[in-house]
Amino acid sequence: MAAKLERRELGKTGLKVSCVGFGASPLGNVFGPVSEDVAIATVSSAFSLGINFFDTSPYYGGTLSEKVLGKCLKALEVPRNEYIVATKCGRYVEGFDFSAERITRSIDESLDRLQLDYVDILQCHDIEFGSLDQIVNETIPALKKIKESGKARFIGITGLPLDIYTYVLDRVLPGTIDVILSYCHHCINDSTLEELLPYLKSKGVGVINASPLSMGLLTENGPPDWHPASPELKAACKAAATYCKENGKNISKLALQYSLSHKDISSVLVGMNSVRQVEENVGAALELADVGKDEKVLAKIEAILKPIKNQTWPSGINHS
Ligand code: NAD
Repeated sequence: MAAKLERRELGKTGLKVSCVGFGASPLGNVFGPVSEDVAIATVSSAFSLGINFFDTSPYYGGTLSEKVLGKCLKALEVPRNEYIVATKCGRYVEGFDFSAERITRSIDESLDRLQLDYVDILQCHDIEFGSLDQIVNETIPALKKIKESGKARFIGITGLPLDIYTYVLDRVLPGTIDVILSYCHHCINDSTLEELLPYLKSKGVGVINASPLSMGLLTENGPPDWHPASPELKAACKAAATYCKENGKNISKLALQYSLSHKDISSVLVGMNSVRQVEENVGAALELADVGKDEKVLAKIEAILKPIKNQTWPSGINHS
């Protein structure tokens, strides 16, 4: 793999993130067990193939993902400014707590587990599970203080329903929120994030798009048991994966290439738990840059997925 993985500006942060980002939730064993040796080899291959952006959360595997990622990054033995680390706060296996007190404690705990002095990005995790007015009036001011302290260079918010972003960004001063992390809304089966991109650009916010494989729906092995999609959505994705397999194509490769092709999305976070997956995903990005998407097969998959296009699932408490 001689070609270089593209890096893109992340909003107004000045950070240049690899277009494929490393989603570290699998290091918390959420998609099945991953040994420490495999985790270290996976992160090391990601870094050597040009991935410089790593995303985790205290929630993934009940803090395990942060601890394992910390060990893996240390094992790289490279200067701290050569990689970009994002973690989150407010969501824990014990439940949600978006209070200023918990957020302020959370960053210290994360830094300890990650063995770092600072994170590049601290995001409030899945804000649709809290009161959005608390997020605006209490959580974001606490995040701003953490930014001022230098423990996080930039701050952001994450969650599934797209209207949380407009709600919050319309109620804070421009420049307050540096990034948003949306997931499962820019994949072959759901492209609703695209409609929000001009608004996010107008607010100067960097866009991270996670779960291009729709948390396992767009893979040959299929999603984990906990996946919240409807049986109908799961069946359609399975049919698309089967079509690809029968025609000698890899659904995950096509899905990642689809997600990567919008330049207003700075990085696409894929959860990876093996060197093979890293190589496949970086290879898919390089192939996209070189020869473009396989439009013919993509059109066939889009036709299979059409009956469930943009179908999502409920997340969070009702804000209306
Ligand atoms: P994903 O869509 O990236 O799917 C991950 C699954 O696909 C795993 O089972 C992985 O082993 C498998 N996979 C990866 N590459 C593959 C390949 N080439 N071939 C076959 N299978 C492959 O879903 P995800 O891991 O949930 O999302 C990516 C990352 O985004 C997470 O790790 C996390 O860092 C972030 N994320 C954040 C939020 C949030 O903040 N609310 C939500 C979802 C995801």
